[in-house]
Amino acid sequence: MGPIGPGAEVSDLNATHDPARQSWVAGANDPAGDFPIQNLPWGVFSVDGGVRRIGVAIGDMILDVTAAEAAGLIAPAPVPVFDQGILNPFMALPPVAWSDTRARIANLLDAATGERPDLVLVRQDKVRMHLPIFVRSFTDFYASREHATNVGTMFRGPDNALMPNWLHIPIGYNGRASTVVVSGTGIHRPLGQIKGPQDDLPRLAPSAKLDIELELGTIVGTPSTMGQPLTTAQAYDAIFGYVLLNDWSARDIQVWEYQPLGPFQSKAFGTTISPWIVTREALEPFRAPTPARIQPLLPYLEEATPNNFDINLSVALAPEGHRAVTISNTNYRHMYYSAAQQLTHHALSGCAMETGDLLGSGTISGPTPDSLGSLLELTWNGRDPLKIGRVRRTFLHDGDRVDITGYCRGDYRIGFGLCSGTILPAASPP
Ligand code: MN
Repeated sequence: MGPIGPGAEVSDLNATHDPARQSWVAGANDPAGDFPIQNLPWGVFSVDGGVRRIGVAIGDMILDVTAAEAAGLIAPAPVPVFDQGILNPFMALPPVAWSDTRARIANLLDAATGERPDLVLVRQDKVRMHLPIFVRSFTDFYASREHATNVGTMFRGPDNALMPNWLHIPIGYNGRASTVVVSGTGIHRPLGQIKGPQDDLPRLAPSAKLDIELELGTIVGTPSTMGQPLTTAQAYDAIFGYVLLNDWSARDIQVWEYQPLGPFQSKAFGTTISPWIVTREALEPFRAPTPARIQPLLPYLEEATPNNFDINLSVALAPEGHRAVTISNTNYRHMYYSAAQQLTHHALSGCAMETGDLLGSGTISGPTPDSLGSLLELTWNGRDPLKIGRVRRTFLHDGDRVDITGYCRGDYRIGFGLCSGTILPAASPP
C-alpha cells in the first residue's frame, strides 16, 4: 500500500490501514461515512433498555463485541474483558492486545472473508450509546497557542497575552471526572458567583456567558507507576484513543473565580464526549508534526516522531427550533503541544496516570477568524455577535444545541461521530 496520509511512517502501518480493504457490512464502504473498516472505534451501547454491551462501529452498524467474545470469536485475554459494559478492562490490557484485537475484528468484517452470520450486528440508529469508559480522572489542558493568545489578549492585553510559562509547560488543571457525560446528555446552565466589572459585590445567578470549548479528549490505556516519569514515546504508546470533547465553560463565573488557583465551578458542571473512541492505531496514517517551536523545549518534552494528528474539526450551533449552522472549522494539527507531550508532563512529577484517565487538549483554535474553538473568541467576549440563520448569539441560550464533529481524510475517511449537547435551564438557587 502507498502513503495514505501526511506524516505517516510506513513502519507504524499494518494491514488494518490498507486502503484497499472493504467490508461486507452495510454502509462500511461509503467514502463519506465515518466508520470504514480502517476505523473500528470502540463504544458502549444498549438495546431496548438492556444491559450495556461493548461495540465496534462499522458502517451503519455496530459489531456486538460482547457477543463475539462470549461466542469465542474474539479473545483478547484468558478471562472475559467485554462482559462488564465498560471498556476499562480491555484498555488495561497491554497495547499489543488492543492491536491484535483490532486486526482480528478487521479480518472478521473484511469483504474477502465473506459475510459472517455468527456475528451479531445491530443498527446504530436502534441503540442508546453510553459513556464508553469509567473516567478515572479528568485533566484539562490549554495547548493551543492561538487560543491562549486570543484569551490573554482579551483579559490582559496583547503585550501580556501569553504567560511567561506558556511556551515551556503544557499548562493544565485537574478537573472533574464526575460530570463527564456522553453525547446527547442535557447540560444545565450553571449557577455561580458572578461579579461584573461595575459591581461592588458578587451575586448568585445563572451564568449569562455560557460557552463551549472545542477539544479533543485523550484516553489513557496503560497506567504509569507513581514516582516514575514517562518519555514522550512511552506516553504516545500508553494512549488508547481519542474522542471529541466539549468542555462547557461559564465565562462570567470563570473570570471572578480563577485567580489564583485556576478554573473551578466555571468548568465543573459538565464535559461532553463523543461515544466512539477512535484508537491511536486508527490515527497512525494521519500523524502530523507540532508547529515550529518558538522557544526550545526542555529535552524531556522533545519528540522524535510527529505525534500530532491531522484531524478536521467543526462546531455547529442550533438554536431551539432552528437549523444547525457551522460556526467554526479548524484542525487539531495546530495544537502547540501533542497529547503525548501533555501526558509526559502530567507524569513528570511522579503523578500516577491511570487506565481511564481523560485528558482534554484545551480549546482548539486555528489561525483564522473562522477557526476559533470558543464563543468567547468567535464573538470577542460578546462584542461581535454571530449570525445563526435569523438569530444572533454571543453566548449560549437555553435550548441551544452544540454539535462537534471531526474526521481525518487520506485515502479514506476516519470519522469521530458526533459530540452533541443541549443547554437546559438553570436549577433553582439553593
Ligand atoms: Mn478546556
